[in-house]
Amino acid sequence: MTGPNTTTDETTPKRPADPFKSLGNETRLEILRVLYDHLQSSSREATLSYSTLRSEVGVEDKGNFNYHLRQLDGLFVERGSGTETEAATSTGSGTGSDTGTETTADTDSSTNTDSSTDGYRLTFAGFEIAKVIDVDAWRSHEPCGPVVLDNPRDDCVDTGRNDTHDDPTAQHPLTATYEDSVVEIRRGDDLLYAHAVRPTGAAARGMAVDELLDTASTLWRHTVEQLLETICPYCHAPIERTLEYTPNRHWEHTFSANCNECGSLGGSHVGIVAITHPAAIAFCWEHGLDLTSTRVWNLPFVDDNAVTVLNDEPRRLRLTIEFESARLKLVVTDDVRVVDTERVCRAES
Ligand SMILES: [Zn+2]
Repeated sequence: MTGPNTTTDETTPKRPADPFKSLGNETRLEILRVLYDHLQSSSREATLSYSTLRSEVGVEDKGNFNYHLRQLDGLFVERGSGTETEAATSTGSGTGSDTGTETTADTDSSTNTDSSTDGYRLTFAGFEIAKVIDVDAWRSHEPCGPVVLDNPRDDCVDTGRNDTHDDPTAQHPLTATYEDSVVEIRRGDDLLYAHAVRPTGAAARGMAVDELLDTASTLWRHTVEQLLETICPYCHAPIERTLEYTPNRHWEHTFSANCNECGSLGGSHVGIVAITHPAAIAFCWEHGLDLTSTRVWNLPFVDDNAVTVLNDEPRRLRLTIEFESARLKLVVTDDVRVVDTERVCRAES
């Protein structure tokens, strides 16, 4: 069996076999909850003294409490002092700079857990775990939908195109569902867009699919922006992007993203590259289309009809955004970068 735990690469930090093993205990989860609540209630003061922490967790047996605290120490909690907490970040964690995966349960430095001058605070990993538990990210819910969405071409400005009669996608309406914390946009059986919306946020919006669409669209846009900036949305490592030709899929002209740490990150239609390009944002804005707020599935140029193949090897495409009076052409390279733009009046083109 191969995998991250069996790597022989000495430069790769060793990943614990089960990073959540130390969380499988009510006392330890309560320690995280108390530190998290303390952080939330005290703004920037992240560190809680040992005595207060033990008192609030409510464990009389000091040895027993120390044992559980040691299982978290260095992984989900860390030592801190009052002065150090001033450096707490706006994310609410401690310094977050040392989330080493080796527990310190058996080291000498962990024996003085009852120090009266120092205290404990959440590491960045501890904060993330406590936050996920706090917002009920794991909560199950009833599925919603599907609901049929309006035809995007009815919603957006006149693009000057007249291709709806030979557009096979017009045969199937767009539908939206919310299930297992994910909003999905489909055309027929084809999944076009998907993004998680936390159950707490969905409940706050009444669990109505239509109410979730703006949230899902914005979150999806932000995730794709990270891909377009070569940042992995999960681990923040640099990623690689590649143009792909996918004739058997709903869209033929797509791109994929891959992270060396996390693997495949999915992808989308190549037209999505326009949503972060300043020339496209300005051009569309001048023609009444706001790329920063339009639901992503309503963008008219996210369509194979807007794509022209300029070169096969290396692959190079042209994306055309068109309105009645003008067109904007964007040249997209094999690694999904826009390298050239050109505006033309339709009378000239
Ligand atoms: Zn990653």
